[in-house]
Amino acid sequence: MKRVLVTGSGRGIGKAIALQLAKDGFAIAVHCRSDRASAEAVVAEIRALGRHASLLQFDVADRAAARAALEQDIASYGAYYGAVCNAGITRDGAFPALTEDDWDSVIHTNLDGFYNVLQPLVMPMIQLRSGGRIVTIASVSGIAGNRGQVNYSASKAGLIGATKALALELAKRKITVNCVAPGLIDTDMLQDVAQEELMKMIPLRRAGSAAEVAATVAFLCSEPAAYITRQVISVNGGLV
Ligand code: NDP
Repeated sequence: MKRVLVTGSGRGIGKAIALQLAKDGFAIAVHCRSDRASAEAVVAEIRALGRHASLLQFDVADRAAARAALEQDIASYGAYYGAVCNAGITRDGAFPALTEDDWDSVIHTNLDGFYNVLQPLVMPMIQLRSGGRIVTIASVSGIAGNRGQVNYSASKAGLIGATKALALELAKRKITVNCVAPGLIDTDMLQDVAQEELMKMIPLRRAGSAAEVAATVAFLCSEPAAYITRQVISVNGGLV
């Protein structure tokens, strides 16, 4: 049973990734922070597909909580074959108005979350000696920067750097580490964004769907993607 953890998989892009990976045959650890009911519904959907699903609940910004939950989970079910670091937040604002909390919460969730989630997972993954797949979800903002998102752009650019460096460290273990960078995707997160001006800038003239991001992540987790590592794959309608 190849298990994959998908952080923030109770809704949005994470949910689409969890369901696609389950359809592709993986056992899934669904994860949430606050919305346990939605995550439980995703677990039920995956089980209805005949796949194994478990549920983890912790704040990815809380290092001790993440380690405790993951170590207990690995002790119960064994090491992960894969992990998708999807959980993320925005706290947008023009830089002069950006509060310390806006900065800290975004960096702690989006960037520290990489360390907090992957550090406890990687050694057991190596010891499994089955190769593996790690995918991080960055953003077009981490590649090009975005007005009103200095904190978010910094966190996602950091995530891209961390992903590429980890890819180098894990390559000899046949564990691939890649990043998917979505553009504008139609989820709850998009409700806070002024969409009209942005749509004009997207060559494909529409927001993407969570399923379109999930398809790319699922490919990177598949066997035929074994020779792809240390890459950033954009799913952005041609935006950048
Ligand atoms: P949503 O806001 O729809 O969902 C966010 C998910 O992340 C939820 O499941 C939430 O869990 C979880 N989460 C947030 N903070 C934490 C935390 N501190 N600890 C644990 N879980 C947390 O976001 P999307 O699905 O739109 O985004 C998913 C990823 O894609 C994010 O990393 C985002 O930055 C990235 N992205 C999204 C784009 C878009 O246009 N939507 C564009 C580019 C990138 P819970 O519900 O339990 O709180």
